[in-house]
Amino acid sequence: MTNHIADNLQSVRAQIKQCALQSDRDPNNIELLAVSKTKPVSDIVLAYEAGHRSFGENYVQEGVDKIAELKYLTDISWHFIGPLQSNKSRLVAENFNWMHSVDRYKIAKRLSDQRPAYAKPLNVCIQINIDEEESKAGVLPDELMPLLSECEALEKICVRGLMAIPKPSQVKSEQLNAFKKVQALFATCQQKYPQFDTLSIGMSGDIPAAIECGSTMVRVGTAIFGARD
Ligand SMILES: *Cc1c(COP(=O)(O)O)cnc(C)c1O
Repeated sequence: MTNHIADNLQSVRAQIKQCALQSDRDPNNIELLAVSKTKPVSDIVLAYEAGHRSFGENYVQEGVDKIAELKYLTDISWHFIGPLQSNKSRLVAENFNWMHSVDRYKIAKRLSDQRPAYAKPLNVCIQINIDEEESKAGVLPDELMPLLSECEALEKICVRGLMAIPKPSQVKSEQLNAFKKVQALFATCQQKYPQFDTLSIGMSGDIPAAIECGSTMVRVGTAIFGARD
């Protein structure tokens, strides 16, 4: 049987490389996160066998179950990218390497307090509600700097950058408009926090626009694992 996931990974990597070169960027500065939510562990293993090592999950319990099952693959980096209720924060603090969707101090504080002493600080991105949509996850742009200041004292999280999910659009100019706003915010953050190195933007449908706007990590599900039910 051929491994379609390996083929898909290769095409997505090629696409990232091509987009990077078009934007005069080093392709090595753009990490590919394979979003395996709702997909079976066997798909993750196929991607792993194709050399892939970083995976994103959206649902806490599903993610934790997969991490437990794949514990023997010790070099996987696990990223939590979904919405998180505070009563589930411990599971993220104890099991994941990265958390992309921090959008309030309460969650940041709990993740830091609950991160095990033996573990390295949890890598964190702050999720931005970039289109300022009501009832959408993420901090509003105005709330970002105050939140970052509050997070400075938290020792067991390391804030690495920003994450955003713009309103879905097939139109590249619209994708660029949203991503440019995130890129500008990111640049502002970097002036105060030079250690910021992660801009988590771009999914299967908008990889070129995200890379044009400085993405350092694209989160790709469908283009690697196929459509979800
Ligand atoms: C599902 C999901 C992705 C991947 O989306 P695709 O369109 O399948 O590539 C990326 N980021 C987040 C936060 C997601 O929930």
